[in-house]
Amino acid sequence: MEINSLTGEFVCAPTEHAFLRHKQEQTRSLLGFTLTFCTVFYLGFFATDLAALGWGPDAMILLAARLLVGLTAGSCAWLAYRRALSVRATRLAASLSEGVALACFMLISVLRPAEFHWHAMSLAIMLVVVYLYIPNRLRYASIIAVVTTVVFVFLADRYGRFTPADEFTMGMLLVLVNTFGFLAARRFHHVSREEFRSWSVLKHAAERDHLTGCFNRRYLHDHLMGGQWIDRAPEANCLSVVLCDIDHFKLINDTHGHGDGDMVLRGFARILQAAIRDGVDSVVRYGGEEFLVVLPGTDLEGGMRLAERLRVTFAATEVVSNDGATRLKATASFGVASVDLAQFSFEPPLRRLIAAADELMYRAKRNGRDRIESLQLA
Ligand code: GH3
Ligand code: MG
Ligand code: MG
Repeated sequence: MEINSLTGEFVCAPTEHAFLRHKQEQTRSLLGFTLTFCTVFYLGFFATDLAALGWGPDAMILLAARLLVGLTAGSCAWLAYRRALSVRATRLAASLSEGVALACFMLISVLRPAEFHWHAMSLAIMLVVVYLYIPNRLRYASIIAVVTTVVFVFLADRYGRFTPADEFTMGMLLVLVNTFGFLAARRFHHVSREEFRSWSVLKHAAERDHLTGCFNRRYLHDHLMGGQWIDRAPEANCLSVVLCDIDHFKLINDTHGHGDGDMVLRGFARILQAAIRDGVDSVVRYGGEEFLVVLPGTDLEGGMRLAERLRVTFAATEVVSNDGATRLKATASFGVASVDLAQFSFEPPLRRLIAAADELMYRAKRNGRDRIESLQLA
């Protein structure tokens, strides 16, 4: 999870995407708040147009320009608050609002040329807002800020009443605000990604089993047991679980050592994780060599098909021992329990299903191992 020191973004694109998705709710509400704030100020500053120009055609042009900014930024703020905007749409809304506001600001500067000193100061404040407060990708904010600065300096030279010393000082100040704006924004991007990196490591350690990478019991209780699995398959009308236990696993440990036993556990976990649907099903390391597969929206037949695939694949898989000299083979026994959610009034169903699958798995052991027992819960 390396962070690019120039852009402040994760080097790995999927990690950057995961970070942006994780932050999206916060980004959206920050965009809504900041644009609302900016809109109110932008419209309120019409009072300064009146003070400078009085009621007249130029003031009316500036009123129209300010209303255009209010309409653009206000609509974007409303969208950010009301709609589940994507990352891309949020950035587009930010860039569009900034572009329109800064273009109108150029018009204000040209129509009030006597006050270019003040306009330079206003621009410096707006650039801080662009770099730091309106949430946007750093490279977009930088391009908008730098282009605006160049255009403003050109207009100041053309319309402003500056001495060369004034112009030089203004140019230096605008370079300064761009440099520090960029550095501060880059630092902010960097720090928020470092925070995400630490959060991800802690979350992984809290939810996953160290040896196999499967979810642990804590995850089962905190994120599945209370019925939260429904979030992964909101349309689900049934739920199945498969409880799997490796056969005679103690013998593998006793014969080949715990290190090789661990390799077999890892191999079994890999097979389980490769067989499930990402983001819908979950594999939990339920006990030492027992794994639980939770399958929202899968009926008994589907659960049995999956268990059979797991059984055949595991029995046919050879795990290479730690020293590379031995090929270890093992089998597993499976209990599959399923429930039709429409007919099940007990809450929550997962606890009942696990108890049933546990019972079925022991029946599979008693009936000779390397087999599946199943039951539809009434
Ligand atoms: P059965 O077919 O009836 O399930 O027999 P079994 O030998 O698989 O079952 P038993 O419960 O007797 O043994 C399970 C063994 O799993 C005992 C324990 O030492 C071992 N075990 C539990 N966790 C781990 C682990 O993380 N690594 C290793 N290598 N062994 C483990
Ligand atoms: Mg066992
Ligand atoms: Mg066991």
